[in-house]
Amino acid sequence: MKGFAMLSKGKAGWIEKDAPTCGPLDAIIRPTAVAPCSSDTSIINDLDLPNVILGHESLGIVEEVGELVTKFKPDDRVVVPC
Ligand SMILES: [Zn+2]
Repeated sequence: MKGFAMLSKGKAGWIEKDAPTCGPLDAIIRPTAVAPCSSDTSIINDLDLPNVILGHESLGIVEEVGELVTKFKPDDRVVVPC
């Protein structure tokens, strides 16, 4: 799968990533919209963290939930705040 990440200082782009696995308290969300955050721009401009995924604030659709998750289910539309 693809992830939008820091490539090198000052540069971002798409990289190949392994698909995430869902732990007991996790939910896997398919993002439908992602908002840039000031921490994303700080990572790109000020740090040297290649392959760090950007865009942690988003809207999306739940794909999978862990066995202990009770308040969300697949196909729920969710907001993922910072
Ligand atoms: Zn943020």
